[in-house]
Amino acid sequence: MAGNGLSRGGRPVTARKGDRPVTARKADREADGPVRVGVLALQGDVREHVEILRKLGVEPVEVRQVEDLMGLSGLIVPGGESTTIGKVLSETGLLDGIRSYFYKGGPVWGTCAGMVLAASATTGGRQPLLGLMNALVERNGFGRQVHSFEADLDVEGFDRPFTGVFIRAPFFEDVGPGVEVLGKVGERIVAAKGENILVTAFHPELTDDVRFHEYFLREVCGI
Ligand code: GLN
Repeated sequence: MAGNGLSRGGRPVTARKGDRPVTARKADREADGPVRVGVLALQGDVREHVEILRKLGVEPVEVRQVEDLMGLSGLIVPGGESTTIGKVLSETGLLDGIRSYFYKGGPVWGTCAGMVLAASATTGGRQPLLGLMNALVERNGFGRQVHSFEADLDVEGFDRPFTGVFIRAPFFEDVGPGVEVLGKVGERIVAAKGENILVTAFHPELTDDVRFHEYFLREVCGI
């Protein structure tokens, strides 16, 4: 191999558009049948995401084991309890399965607990994380007394504010290169995007506003 001019081993394994699963490519969609988008279904707001996906014309797939990731054009990691979800992810092999899906270019959207799991580190105790995004997350970042609240957010790329429903929500305290901040509450980062990943600290599935689901399908999954 020496002398062929190709750099070997020096490139980071980052997702590029061309690496995405075949079904995510518009041109292949019709030939491959309906577009399938997974919702991690171990715990949390599964049904709400499934219903919205169906409304938007994609086939929802409830993901409970590694095999369910096959052929997906996107994966939603919903809200719930990140410590519980992380534990089941590691017991089922899905922690590595989702990482592998992601590093091959598979699009992921983490909401709330899903945003915690997507981060590379937490400010608190150790817990299993997917570590898909170069970010430091503060769990329950808005204080225990403020269990839930709503806030109108200005979101990068949206023409009018999005009402975020926050329930024991996290925020990103810091993000590394390659992470684009999409929305903040004060100085706290509550929505962000990477090459094939989206995170939101709030719960778009609990509102009638499907713009974040549309955004994920369009901007992250390329559907
Ligand atoms: N605070 C929860 C956690 O850290 C997330 C809450 C939610 O998903 N609504 O897992």
